[in-house]
Amino acid sequence: MENFNAANEIQDLQYFGEFGGVNPSISDSSTYTFLSAKTMFDTFEGNADGCYLYSRHSSPMNLYLSQALAKLENTETANVTASGMGAITSVLMQLCKSGDHIISSRTIYGGTYAFLKNFLPPFNIETTFLDINNFEAVENSITPHTKAIYCESVSNPLLEVADLKKLSEICKKHNLKLIVDNTFSPLSISPALLGADIVIHSLTKFINGSSDTVGGVYCGTQEFINDTKNVNSGACMLLGPTMDSFRSASILKNLRTLHIRIKQHSHNALYLAERFERDGLRVSYPGLQSHKNHELMKSMMHEEYGFGGLLTLDAGTTDKANELMELMQQENLGYLAVSLGFYKTLFSCSGSSTSSEIPEEERAEMGISDGLIRFSIGLDHDIERTYQKMKECMKKTGVLNHENVSIY
Ligand SMILES: *Cc1c(COP(=O)(O)O)cnc(C)c1O
Repeated sequence: MENFNAANEIQDLQYFGEFGGVNPSISDSSTYTFLSAKTMFDTFEGNADGCYLYSRHSSPMNLYLSQALAKLENTETANVTASGMGAITSVLMQLCKSGDHIISSRTIYGGTYAFLKNFLPPFNIETTFLDINNFEAVENSITPHTKAIYCESVSNPLLEVADLKKLSEICKKHNLKLIVDNTFSPLSISPALLGADIVIHSLTKFINGSSDTVGGVYCGTQEFINDTKNVNSGACMLLGPTMDSFRSASILKNLRTLHIRIKQHSHNALYLAERFERDGLRVSYPGLQSHKNHELMKSMMHEEYGFGGLLTLDAGTTDKANELMELMQQENLGYLAVSLGFYKTLFSCSGSSTSSEIPEEERAEMGISDGLIRFSIGLDHDIERTYQKMKECMKKTGVLNHENVSIY
């Protein structure tokens, strides 16, 4: 694991544009000509490598970006999609058919939860949700119909870390696929090195990093990716969540600076988390010793990239959280917005936004309290200055006061 460095792998990918450009050329075409009719037939049958047929299947720029993301995750290959959900649904619909069963972490992205909980059961695909690091519960839930274990390496919004090595051992023993959504921890965690079979990202977040597009990818074996792109039976080919070539070109350019950005996001998030904790605030960040998965994450991560850019803070009530977020936005400390991985800090109240698909009782059981604010910490140059300003906002709104300090 120490020998693998994804940033070097990506750096070593050298692409030239059609006219010697320093960026690869965007192919602005949905369909491709053939010199012979026979080659067109062979391409349809999947027997003509390197030929483009139709851009829902493949396009040159999407293959460049897919290749770079396969390097990031150290998998054989990858396939980019129009959104993170496009990647997640394609993977799950490819692996699971009527009668199959999935085991999933209960702390996952709201959209994924809604897909597993509401969308798949009418297709006779059931999911058991559980605490994914309760390995006994995981093993006890496996049935002859179970096809996959699904989790996020660092979960949304509670920042729980999944023990991927243990989960991959369970998967190997029972012949299941381990699917890991690594959106919160690109570069920091390499799920495939820890035994994941399929690694998914919402490119919308850190990887693109400029909050100007949605996008997704799934990384895995050539065989699996080919299955998803099969013209007769491929979930991605037939459901059609195709990324546009112009977007994949811009995401590839942004990917080139990911290693620098992640280090700065992590540095800033750790700085704030440590100080908030010292101030007596209820803060959760995997880089803090007080985080229940601190040691686990340390054992899984590439240290130079840190513990990531996300932290959560419990403001007590939804009203207090809203007041604080509105003030911080007014003071230009960030935006009151969902999503993450932007240059600017983003904050949202999880229970009333990205996790609102999860019913209230279940949110409470998981520990998503009403006042929980998720912060995606930005690339601020002077984080001490940001900290002082945030602290002022917390004092003004009463989120930080002496009572708090003595209670927590
Ligand atoms: C945002 C997100 C998704 C969904 O991705 P989209 O690009 O919005 O479709 C999936 N998983 C995680 C962890 C996310 O944060």
